[in-house]
Amino acid sequence: MTGAAFKAVDLGDTAWRQRGFCSGETEAFFPHRGEARRAIAAKAVCLSGCPVIDECLEFALTNNERFGVWGGKGEEERRRIRRKRRQQLEAAVPAGMKRCSACELVKPPKDFHRDNSTHDGLNPRCAECRTAYTAARPKAS
Ligand code: SF4
Ligand SMILES: [Zn+2]
Repeated sequence: MTGAAFKAVDLGDTAWRQRGFCSGETEAFFPHRGEARRAIAAKAVCLSGCPVIDECLEFALTNNERFGVWGGKGEEERRRIRRKRRQQLEAAVPAGMKRCSACELVKPPKDFHRDNSTHDGLNPRCAECRTAYTAARPKAS
């Protein structure tokens, strides 16, 4: 599975890295912009049967890894997958409800603070997540 579908992967477990075909190799998997041939070569390694290709891709998607080849996918491909997943999540929200961008739970609008800078007039985070986020922010001295 290397497409946009969801797959349950234990993201706390990073032992998979040791089993990857690229274990210990970093340079080849982080081609610079324009180095298309290096990117293709790195993807070919992933797609040659790397046993942790799903874990690798899911790790990169979840951690928003912006650079390099992960799970056989390059930067733009991962951006597309993330965009598609966001759209799928949005499409699954019942009318009159809203999904929190942090905890991703679907809640009624009353559970979100007002925010005039957003398209729907509500903060993207639910009130609970907003409070946790604000509390965790370092205070200005
Ligand atoms: S899928 Fe590719 S980048 Fe990920 S561990 Fe395997 S070889 Fe390395
Ligand atoms: Zn939330």
